[in-house]
Amino acid sequence: MRIPVLAANWKMHKTVKDARAFIRAFTPRVADVSELEIVLAPPFTAIAAVADACRDTRIAVAGQDLYWETQGAFTGEISSEMLSEAGASHVIIGHSERRHLFGDDDTTVNQKAQAAIGAGLTPIVCVGETLDQRKANQTLEVLSLQIEYGVRGLTADQVAMLIVAYEPVWAIGTGLTATPDQAQEIHAYIRNRLSEIAGGEAADRCRLLYGGSVKPENARELSAERDVDGALVGGASLNSDSFAEIVAACRPRTV
Ligand code: PEP
Repeated sequence: MRIPVLAANWKMHKTVKDARAFIRAFTPRVADVSELEIVLAPPFTAIAAVADACRDTRIAVAGQDLYWETQGAFTGEISSEMLSEAGASHVIIGHSERRHLFGDDDTTVNQKAQAAIGAGLTPIVCVGETLDQRKANQTLEVLSLQIEYGVRGLTADQVAMLIVAYEPVWAIGTGLTATPDQAQEIHAYIRNRLSEIAGGEAADRCRLLYGGSVKPENARELSAERDVDGALVGGASLNSDSFAEIVAACRPRTV
């Protein structure tokens, strides 16, 4: 049985003060949620404060990226050890904004995933096609390569511990959402691809999240799909009420 995950990607939003106010409003709303995992990914500067504010809760904290080296002359970068020390247990890797605005590619995504796993962090590896790629019928080909490179060198057990987020780039922050059928079709494809690479057991255990304009209104339908094990939420996670409503819409769930 896969435990669903609801992850909030706050991107470059929220100061420490904003983050604390969110946690104060959010935690009572999800205090009785034990059947799914909630992960908040604040900006680096707020990780320690969010981890501190969530200490007596079941809410986990994620970085939004990392660099694969442990230390050195890498101005602006942050290591897995720094994330862990600040209180993160998860890290988002290969988000489409990192890929398209900051030059991450399948090779660096793999280096980052390996570094995260090596440091005991759970990577949330993002994959997804652009609108042009979808229109050109390249979706499966693109995803196949992103998955293959993303998990290259990982053992079956490590693949099982991964969280993969399918985030069609055309749906991120656009208000456009994949239909539940589209999401299920792609998630089944990703699970099948993971099974070819790492074996059926690892693929069965790996959590696959959908991301792309998830809102309280569409979360239930999307998360009800067989191979959708939760969501990675951007815009709608910035407001504590709307993220709490998304969490509520995704519970309870059996696989
Ligand atoms: C994201 O950035 O990971 C995301 C899914 O954003 P949004 O929910 O705003 O589309």
